[in-house]
Amino acid sequence: MKHIAIYPGAFDPIHFGHVDIAIRAASIFDELVVAVYDKPAKPLLFTIQERVELTRQALADLPNARVAAYSSLTVEFAREVGAQAIVRGLRATNDFELEYQMALTNRKLAPEIEFICLMTRQDYAFLSSSVVKEVALLGGDVSGMVPLHVASALEIKKREREKNHQPAPVVSLRD
Ligand code: ADP
Repeated sequence: MKHIAIYPGAFDPIHFGHVDIAIRAASIFDELVVAVYDKPAKPLLFTIQERVELTRQALADLPNARVAAYSSLTVEFAREVGAQAIVRGLRATNDFELEYQMALTNRKLAPEIEFICLMTRQDYAFLSSSVVKEVALLGGDVSGMVPLHVASALEIKKREREKNHQPAPVVSLRD
């Protein structure tokens, strides 16, 4: 039997923490489908097509991984591609609360699908797409956080937003 997993997320944009989880998951499963969620409940910088393309390029060296967009329930998408498992990455304790809740809900919806969490590498424990976006849009160096093509895409977004007088989202100063 072919063992297939999906790795779902917003990937807005993909960063080294995501890439690390994808590489490790791809080494465990025969096939990994990196599933880019169409409309997450958070403000997005990149369109679904852009997120898929940036993710595809970042994982181009992983022969058993492919990238696909989805907009249904995650467990429904997992069933659609014949996956037996959903992989997630765990950073700090607040990730755990959310993942635990999601795992239990998903088990009710699809008891045949296993939920697997991989611990982040220490270097990426505080890395999130929100931090990447904040640093990039304020002109900081993101070369240690994202692949080169993602840094270039962020630079283009920064210039576009400046042209349209859109302020950079400052998550670190949020209430
Ligand atoms: P984020 O905006 O937090 O980066 P995503 O929705 O794109 O989030 O995340 C997709 C999955 O990747 C989630 O399981 C998330 O916990 C995981 N993930 C995000 N950042 C990291 C990281 N630095 N290390 C390990 N896993 C991560």
